[in-house]
Amino acid sequence: MRPRVGVLAMQGDFREHVERLHALGVEACEVRTEAELDEVDALIIPGGESTTIARLLIAFDLLDPLRARIAAGLPVWGTCAGAIMLAKRVPGLDRPPIGVMDVTVDRNAFGRQVDSFEADLDIAGIEGPPIRAVFIRAPVIREPGPAVEVLAALPDGRIVACREGRLLATSFHPELTDDSRLHEWFVRLAEEAMASRAPA
Ligand code: GLN
Repeated sequence: MRPRVGVLAMQGDFREHVERLHALGVEACEVRTEAELDEVDALIIPGGESTTIARLLIAFDLLDPLRARIAAGLPVWGTCAGAIMLAKRVPGLDRPPIGVMDVTVDRNAFGRQVDSFEADLDIAGIEGPPIRAVFIRAPVIREPGPAVEVLAALPDGRIVACREGRLLATSFHPELTDDSRLHEWFVRLAEEAMASRAPA
């Protein structure tokens, strides 16, 4: 069973994710309404500006429906601003995040002089050579709770990828490189989630 993967399309680089999924032969669509959310088996929350995404989620009446779907087991992958939206604790965010992952996320954690940079990352569960990761005014993940698995950190120890059950958070932008391994990994997670829901 192939999942239908939605990409939250409030703001940010949702088109790049949809294009990447299509290139992988995955059914993908933009999600802006509760009805569209109801139609997907997994969701990507893209990078962008978390304050804007947080506002628009309220304006589009999507915050509570999203929380309900996630509580019911929807696989969600947040990249950059999307990772910020998933965190339970976000210092300085002026609207509530979705708030479902037991982590603290610091926005714009790398300071001005390194607003954007790239790094090669070993990510737990991803086979092959390191992943080239693009960080753009990126957040850092801190204080992972006991159920959170750290998947990748920078050489200085700062966490930039983690997983809690069916929730995945990455500080960087995998949709901006040619490497599709993280998208493929998330699609497999979505397939597993569907298989575990399917009647025997
Ligand atoms: N700095 C942005 C924020 O706080 C995130 C940047 C990004 O998604 N590339 O929302």
